[in-house]
Amino acid sequence: MSAPVIGFIGAGNMATSLIGGMLQQNVKPARLLASDHNPEQAAKLARQFGIQAHTDNARLAEDCDVLLLAVKPQVMQQVCRALPARKPGQLIISIAAGIDCRSLADWLGTDAAIVRCMPNTPSLRRQGVSGLFANANVSATQKQQAEQILNAVGISLWLEEEQLIDAVTAVSGSGPAYFFYLIEAMTAAGEQLGLPRDTAERLTLFTALGAADMAVHSDVDASELRRRVSSPGGTTEQAIKSFANDDFPAIIARGMQAASRRAAELA
Ligand code: NAD
Repeated sequence: MSAPVIGFIGAGNMATSLIGGMLQQNVKPARLLASDHNPEQAAKLARQFGIQAHTDNARLAEDCDVLLLAVKPQVMQQVCRALPARKPGQLIISIAAGIDCRSLADWLGTDAAIVRCMPNTPSLRRQGVSGLFANANVSATQKQQAEQILNAVGISLWLEEEQLIDAVTAVSGSGPAYFFYLIEAMTAAGEQLGLPRDTAERLTLFTALGAADMAVHSDVDASELRRRVSSPGGTTEQAIKSFANDDFPAIIARGMQAASRRAAELA
């Protein structure tokens, strides 16, 4: 079986990142297509990657085996409704926040095989994590195709229920901002302790990177790693006690519940 032709509608940041990632994984440029209503954006992508890119969404939808919808949520309905014909057996992947499979099926046809995906911004650095949900029309082969595409910019995890996308949004979709907030707070606190701002910031950034790398590659969980660096009577233990007194876990849980509620409202 020949490799699928993958077409992107919307050639912006996410499409650029996904296409760049797939080319690095030896997907042939001839298997990738893109269309964008902005001719300059289409031309830019064609120049950058040597792929075919144009402004005709309808033609693209007829030409590809996997159609990746990478436009902003506000224009999704209009984009979907303006596709008169799609290639038979096509897989649709939507990365738009807040648009459920039922709406996409209303606009594209109830027989459409749809994977809904919630990626996050580190995908732009190929360090992303995506939650994926497949509707009942998606085959096992199509699930593998979806995984391969999203794994070009990080890792992906399947969800059994579509509504869990709201929880994914609260954990990993919005999650980068929580870490940025912690980085801001630690940098400011380091400065208050007398460090020059640049030094406090770099110490914080590389500590975040090192801690995440350690946790990802460790065979024990984060709480055990934390215990191992908190010797009784030591400095880390003092900080952790102070965080616990201020109910740090509850603060985080309340914020994430608010994000999840908002994701549900927007869907
Ligand atoms: P972007 O604005 O960079 O790209 C969108 C592209 O769509 C633009 O190039 C625009 O010209 C094009 N476009 C607009 N209307 C069009 C139309 N009618 N036909 C064809 N092309 C059209 O946006 P992005 O950051 O790449 O986000 C794309 C999608 O990914 C969004 O739905 C967003 O919710 C989702 N998403 C993005 C991120 C992220 O990290 N950037 C994370 C999660 C989800």
